[in-house]
Amino acid sequence: MRFDTLIRNGIIVTATDMYAGEVGIAGDKVSAIGAHLPSENTGRIIDAAACYIMPGGIDVHTHLDMPFGGTTSADDFESGTIAAAFGGTTTLIDFAIQYKGQSLRQAFETWMKKAEGKAVADYAFHCIITDLGAAHATIFRAMSQAAKHGGLICMHAENGGAIDVIVQRALAEGKRAPKYHALTRPTTAEAEATARAIALAEMAGAPVYIVHLSCNDALEKVREARDRGLPAYAETCPQYLYLSLENFDVPGFEGAKYVFTPPLREKWHQEKLWQGLAQDTLQVVSTDHCPFCFKEQKELGKDDFTKIPNGGPGIEHRLSLVYTGGVHGKRFSPNRFVELVSTAPAKLFGLYPRKGTLAVGSDADIVIFDPNREDVISAKTHHMRVDYSMFEGIHIKGMPKTVLSRGRPVIDAGKFVGRPGAGQFVRRHTYAGV
Ligand SMILES: [Zn+2]
Repeated sequence: MRFDTLIRNGIIVTATDMYAGEVGIAGDKVSAIGAHLPSENTGRIIDAAACYIMPGGIDVHTHLDMPFGGTTSADDFESGTIAAAFGGTTTLIDFAIQYKGQSLRQAFETWMKKAEGKAVADYAFHCIITDLGAAHATIFRAMSQAAKHGGLICMHAENGGAIDVIVQRALAEGKRAPKYHALTRPTTAEAEATARAIALAEMAGAPVYIVHLSCNDALEKVREARDRGLPAYAETCPQYLYLSLENFDVPGFEGAKYVFTPPLREKWHQEKLWQGLAQDTLQVVSTDHCPFCFKEQKELGKDDFTKIPNGGPGIEHRLSLVYTGGVHGKRFSPNRFVELVSTAPAKLFGLYPRKGTLAVGSDADIVIFDPNREDVISAKTHHMRVDYSMFEGIHIKGMPKTVLSRGRPVIDAGKFVGRPGAGQFVRRHTYAGV
């Protein structure tokens, strides 16, 4: 047995196990796991003392290089995958948008070109369907096709029609500040659409995955469906676990930093979402990373909240925020942490067991994670190409130290050591092996 890389002295953590062990890597795969592996002729030895050895994070909801409202999200596939790697995420599933008149294949090809030569770690895509005819018929048809071919539909669940009316009323009353983006999108609009998406999926015989679930009202709908045994799944994002409507209590236009959809909610929803993660009502934490700079980009909506580009930067701090609040916060175990940020996303989106676990034959996407390293999040030190942080000043405990993508170091001792273009497109399997 000869390894290109040998990781020693650490604690291996997967979604199910936690034990002292060593990981041997040959080429881009994990080739051995054992209590003691031979170190003769090993290319590189990584000492993981006092650290966890875990599978690389998988972020299944990002928007890199995405046109929106006359501007484009600030991270492309190079800066976005670098920032993700700094935070321990080694695979992204980004959203490729179908524009009116285009086929889904054209959307996919456009996004493949955006990633080519730029990504430093692996990526895959979902397609956003915008052109399939009438709304409910579209959703139902897409779900029926998904049921037939083993697809998993990701639903942005909000009642857009009702929200549009509420927004027009607010504008007519002269309510134009950023906080009205949040105040015109009630939790009921999300809960109602979540229930409707689940009902349409049930009729179509399809699974459904609710993206960026933000409030307890919608969480209850997912719980009811799961209690009935339906294949209904949902993710939440760190912004809904850490931020609330109180973040709009800032001077002037600064609230625009927190304008994304669904919006921030009252603070009490946070604990409900953490419980949802602990109890498996929510299966995944993604970021919905969609960064727009405050200067010049968010400012497009200076006099009208409906013109503020929607989205926030989060790709870099997902693992640290979930570990801090989840494991140090005594809400769940390190195993559940790995499951939420890596294993469950891999299983739901057809990447498992190539990604999402540490097993012989898996891709050597590995994070050496120091559970006790601390930091304070700041735009001054982050690696996203955006001029503010949603999480400015938040204290984190638990951070990646070294990050490998298919056996190659991408982050080492706080430095980027990877190569743009080294990331590959990963073909996903169908949902549940249909
Ligand atoms: Zn999104």
